[in-house]
Amino acid sequence: MDFEKLKKFIKNNDIPSYRINQIRDAIYKQGITNWDDIKQLPANLRKELAVKQPILSVFMSKIQQSKRDKIIKALLTLKDGYKIETVLIKPYDSWSVCVSTQVGCQIGCTFCQTGHMGFKRDLTAEEISDQVLFWQGYLRSKKIDERISSVVYMGMGEPLLNYDEVVKSIKTLSDTDFLNIGQRHISISTSGIADKIKKLATDLPQVKLALSLHYTDDKLRSKIMPINRKFNLQSLQLALEDYIARTNRQVFIEYILIQGVNDSTKDFRKLVKWIEGIRGNYLLHVNVIPANQTKKLNNKITNAEVDDFVKSLKKANISASARKSLGADINAACGQLATK
Ligand code: SF4
Repeated sequence: MDFEKLKKFIKNNDIPSYRINQIRDAIYKQGITNWDDIKQLPANLRKELAVKQPILSVFMSKIQQSKRDKIIKALLTLKDGYKIETVLIKPYDSWSVCVSTQVGCQIGCTFCQTGHMGFKRDLTAEEISDQVLFWQGYLRSKKIDERISSVVYMGMGEPLLNYDEVVKSIKTLSDTDFLNIGQRHISISTSGIADKIKKLATDLPQVKLALSLHYTDDKLRSKIMPINRKFNLQSLQLALEDYIARTNRQVFIEYILIQGVNDSTKDFRKLVKWIEGIRGNYLLHVNVIPANQTKKLNNKITNAEVDDFVKSLKKANISASARKSLGADINAACGQLATK
């Protein structure tokens, strides 16, 4: 929903201005995403708005629910026909949404299904924040009277390569007049766009930052995550140092453990050395995640191996935890989103 556009429409069509507050409350506080359900509005106005100002810029094409985890994935169609995926998760007692920021992705990480799609286009701020509105409306349609309380920018695309629209969408989501999701409950996960990490520290210092590191050898990381050719491991260390110095916030390091690729003692030592090379590293927390099965990756890492890796990190005085990867049965887990 482009609320500024709606406000202009109301003004230009001599609709009383108090309707703006009624509409804002209905959409953002009550989670109504269908004009016909905003009963305070006269029927003719509801009809006119439905034709001229659709609430959502995304349209649901398919819903899949995980049998194992509290995870629902939606395939959404955009106005130009492109498709994206978004995920609703309830890991503990509150709802979280994982949003996409691009159609496809130009980074091309070899372990990622989105990376194999290629890049089509950036999403607008409206298309990004509408994924959250869509899920709020979905909960309402299921008579679940609960709010979405956090958002993770971890879906399709590299958020920091669509920087301006991502920042704009976060401002909308966190606006107290709109969805009112505190910026401390919003996380951005990046493959490592070092210059934008520094910018983020100034523009959105409250937002949580996660770096998808996965490999601590430049040659290997460049092969699997081609962004490393532009922003190598040393430039990421410097970017994190700068980010920590300016925000004093915890940063999450995501490390997907892949059998025979980055799980050896040598890999472990390199990871410890890389972390120790960052000033302010006491604010880093490593999330160790078992790699998901994708078409290109037949990973057999066990939970026990993940736990051992975490224990070793803790012994080296590095804050770390094992993270469960949810939604793998509906291809909704990390690295599995793709629209085919
Ligand atoms: S992991 Fe993230 S950055 Fe890498 S290809 Fe997939 S979506 Fe893009």
